[in-house]
Amino acid sequence: MPITAPPRAWMDPELELLRDTARRFFETECAPNHEAWASQKHVDRRIWKRAGDLGLLCAGIPEQYGGGGGHFLHEAVICEEQQRALVNSFSINVHSGIVAHYLLAYASEAQKQRWLPAMASGEMIAAIAMTEPGAGTDLQRIRTTAVRDGDHYVVNGTKTFITNGFHADLVIVAVKTDAQAQAKGVSLLVVETRDLPGFRRGRLLDKIGQRAQDTVELFFDDVRVPVDNLLGGEEGRGFSQLMQQLPRERLLIAVGAAATMQRAVDDTLAYVQQRKVFGEPLMAMQNTRFKLAECQTASTIARSFVDDCIARLQRGELDVPTAAMAKWWITQQLCQVVDDCLQMHGGYGYMNEYPIARMYADARVGRIYGGANEVMKEVIARAMDR
Ligand SMILES: Cc1cc2nc3c(=O)[nH]c(=O)nc-3n(C[C@H](O)[C@H](O)[C@H](O)COP(=O)(O)OP(=O)(O)OC[C@H]3O[C@@H](n4cnc5c(N)ncnc54)[C@H](O)[C@@H]3O)c2cc1C
Repeated sequence: MPITAPPRAWMDPELELLRDTARRFFETECAPNHEAWASQKHVDRRIWKRAGDLGLLCAGIPEQYGGGGGHFLHEAVICEEQQRALVNSFSINVHSGIVAHYLLAYASEAQKQRWLPAMASGEMIAAIAMTEPGAGTDLQRIRTTAVRDGDHYVVNGTKTFITNGFHADLVIVAVKTDAQAQAKGVSLLVVETRDLPGFRRGRLLDKIGQRAQDTVELFFDDVRVPVDNLLGGEEGRGFSQLMQQLPRERLLIAVGAAATMQRAVDDTLAYVQQRKVFGEPLMAMQNTRFKLAECQTASTIARSFVDDCIARLQRGELDVPTAAMAKWWITQQLCQVVDDCLQMHGGYGYMNEYPIARMYADARVGRIYGGANEVMKEVIARAMDR
């Protein structure tokens, strides 16, 4: 009798319906395309439109801006289903969970009306570009500049590792509006990329995992952006805007990692129950039983912690160190669990046709992006050492 996961205190009939829709979509319309999308290193653009039609984009954005009128739980349900189906080929987290919320929090009313409905329908695809070849963790040292010229900024610089960048029509770009200042020189500019002179996408980067997801370089060469597109309307606020959004972004990473962890355990249990070694199912061996028990324990704890963080976020009480704990610990556990689960698959676990092999390669980046896990520990230690 399989262990049934404890019921989620926060689920309700409306969220169940959303979960069903998301599950069907990711399993039947996305997962079968994985190989094709992986070989071209990006999804077909139409899938964004389809996700929009089904209400799976901007689910946590108010209806007055074209969104689903939900909240974080709606985004969490979609994220869980996407990760459970191993569909990490297009980042709804970045589009809906990050960019849309920056716009909701800091854009003007007119900008919200212009951008959010188009993002909710999937006509506009969004990305966020902070990282540069010379500055990832240390964002104060970004070198992309935005220099005021009349009612425009002139943007010059290079961004790298940008998720959704291949299709993106709207990119929030971290720039220096004061090149001499550190954090106080950072601002966020919304760049609409369609037919934009001086804007160029680089190559689709070749990754060890998440191979169907487009990750690109972006180049800005004297790109003119209206001054109005400065988020928050005041220069130098970018760093604090980034900091304010971090807990929900990091929690979304943890939510996805916890969902993948349970998928790894479920797949492995099914495998070891049917695989015979020395005339017996692998599951009869004590090592297999103990390892799976450990993996299920980790998954259960991860899920409980995620649910606790979700409850805190809903109450407006999720602080930066707690979100950092969820991000580092759950992404680290995911890598350990997936490694153990791959081992139980033997040689088959090393074959790409087995989902566990993809989980192994896909999971690794969770310890790097969204703030490297070492940085998460620094954040936690700093809060302890006050
Ligand atoms: C697949 C993928 C998708 C991404 N998507 C995006 C995106 O959409 N937008 C975007 O802007 N960026 C994106 N990134 C970039 C990502 O956020 C950065 O890679 C990450 O912030 C680390 O920066 P870096 O690669 O420059 O590493 P570095 O800053 O050079 O750090 C290297 C390593 O040093 C260690 N380290 C760093 N700082 C500390 C410290 N204070 N204490 C101890 N150790 C430390 C960590 O182990 C870290 O991994 C993506 C990256 C990948 C791989």
